[in-house]
Amino acid sequence: MKKPYVKPSISKIVEGMPSKFGFREVVDPITEIDGIPVEKLIKEYGSPLFVFSERTIRVVYRQAYMAFSTRYPKVQFAWSYKTNYLDAVCRVYHQEGAWAEVVSGFEYDKALRNGVPGDKIIFNGPDKTREDLAKAIKNRSLIHIDHFDELYTILSLTSELEERPQVAIRVNMDTGIYPQWDRFGFNYENGEAWTAITRIMMSDKMDLVGLHTHIGTYIMSPKPYGVAAHKLAQLAKQIEEKWGHRISYIDLGGGFASKNTLRGAYLSGKDTTPSFEQYADAISQALIESGFDSYNLPVLFLETGRALIDDAGYLLGTVIANKRLADGKRAMIIDIGVNLLFTAFWYEHEIHPAKDVPPYLEDTTVYGPLCMNIDVIRTNVKFPMLEPGDHVVIKRVGAYNTTQWLQFINMRPNVVLIDMEGKVHVIRERETLETITSLEKVPDHLKEIGLSDTTENN
Ligand SMILES: *Cc1c(COP(=O)(O)O)cnc(C)c1O
Repeated sequence: MKKPYVKPSISKIVEGMPSKFGFREVVDPITEIDGIPVEKLIKEYGSPLFVFSERTIRVVYRQAYMAFSTRYPKVQFAWSYKTNYLDAVCRVYHQEGAWAEVVSGFEYDKALRNGVPGDKIIFNGPDKTREDLAKAIKNRSLIHIDHFDELYTILSLTSELEERPQVAIRVNMDTGIYPQWDRFGFNYENGEAWTAITRIMMSDKMDLVGLHTHIGTYIMSPKPYGVAAHKLAQLAKQIEEKWGHRISYIDLGGGFASKNTLRGAYLSGKDTTPSFEQYADAISQALIESGFDSYNLPVLFLETGRALIDDAGYLLGTVIANKRLADGKRAMIIDIGVNLLFTAFWYEHEIHPAKDVPPYLEDTTVYGPLCMNIDVIRTNVKFPMLEPGDHVVIKRVGAYNTTQWLQFINMRPNVVLIDMEGKVHVIRERETLETITSLEKVPDHLKEIGLSDTTENN
C-alpha cells in the first residue's frame, strides 16, 4: 500500500531547547566510581583527575567479544593504540586477548614494549618509514599498505631482507556514508584496490594475508559495515578465483559509535547508538552470505577503539567560580579545559555534580580555565548550582582524550586506574614544571637576562 505523503521539514537545532520529551529535569550526582568516593580520589590525586575503571574496560570488551564470537566463529580484536595508549590500559586489553593496532613507529615500539609479539601487531596508517617497515617485516607484523609508494618501499626492502613481508591492503570504498574516507588506502570502486592486489600477487615477494578497511569513526548505523564486509569478501573471492590464493583475514577496522551524544543531536547517544550485537549482525551476515567454505572462513579482525573505552574513563574536576554573562546567563568555570577534554569539541559530554545538591536547574555554560574563548566544555546545559571548590564528574571520556591532550597553560594531571579489587593505581603521573623544562635548552647568550631587582634599587 502506498504510504501517505508527509511534507519534509527542516528545523534548526538549538542546544538547550526542549526536545519533544521536554527537558530532562534531574541531574543525578556521581559520588563514587567503582565504589571509591570522588572526594577521596580528588583529595589524594588532585584535580583535575582522569579515572579509568578496569572493571568497565573488561566488561565492555567481553560484551563486544561475545557479540561477535557468537555470530561468527573466528574473531580477533586488536586494540587501537591511538585511541588510548596508556600502557596500563593497553595491557588490560592484551590480557583480555586483544592484539595491537598501531599507526606510527612510536605506537609500534610502545606495543613491543608492552610485550605484544611482533606477529600480533597490525601496522596501519600512511606514515611508515623505511626503518619502521624493515622492523615490521623482520617481526612478521601485519603491514596494512596505504599507498603505492609504501608498496614500492616494501618491494625494495625484500631484496635486502630474508623474511617475506606479511601484508594486507587498506581498501576505501563507498559504503553509503558521507564523507567517504578516500584518503586512506586504495579505492574499491575505481579498480585501484584490484591493481594493488595484482602488483602484490605478481611480485611473488610477499604474502598477501588479509584485506583491511576502516570506513570512518562514530558510524551510527550498522549498515555501512555490512556493505564493507560484502565488498572485502568479494575481493577475497576474486583473489581466490584468479590466483587460487586464500587470504587468512578480513579486517573491518574500528569506528563503532560510543554512547556519547554528538553536539546538536536530538536524542542522547545512550538511546541511539547501535549495540555491538547490531554491528556484529550486519558484519557476520555479510561475511557468511559471501559463500566462503565454512571450514575455511577468513578470521574477522576488528580494531574497535572508542566504543570499547569511552565508558571506562571519567574526568573529575573542581568549580573555580560562578558568574553571570552580559546577557544574564549563568556561567560556571571549572578547572577542566578543552586541552584535557578534546572531545568536548564534538560531544555533549554528560557532566554531573559529585555530591547531592538542590534539584534547581538553570541553563549554564561550563567554561574551562584557559585564557581562550574556545575553552567551552558545555553550552546551555541544565545544571544545578555548585559553589567554588565543589567537584564535578564528566562521563565517557576514555577515548582519545589522554592521547590528544595538550600541555597548554597548565600541566597535565594524574591519571589513575581503579582495579578489579577497588585498589587505585596512578598509571600516569601529573606533569611538573621540571617535566616541561627538562626538554628545553637555553642558549648561552640567554642565560643572563639582566633585569635588575627593582626592590633593591629603592
Ligand atoms: C583510529 C583507528 C581505529 C579506531 O577507531 P575508533 O573510531 O576509535 O573505533 C581503528 N583502525 C584504524 C586504522 C584507525 O585509524
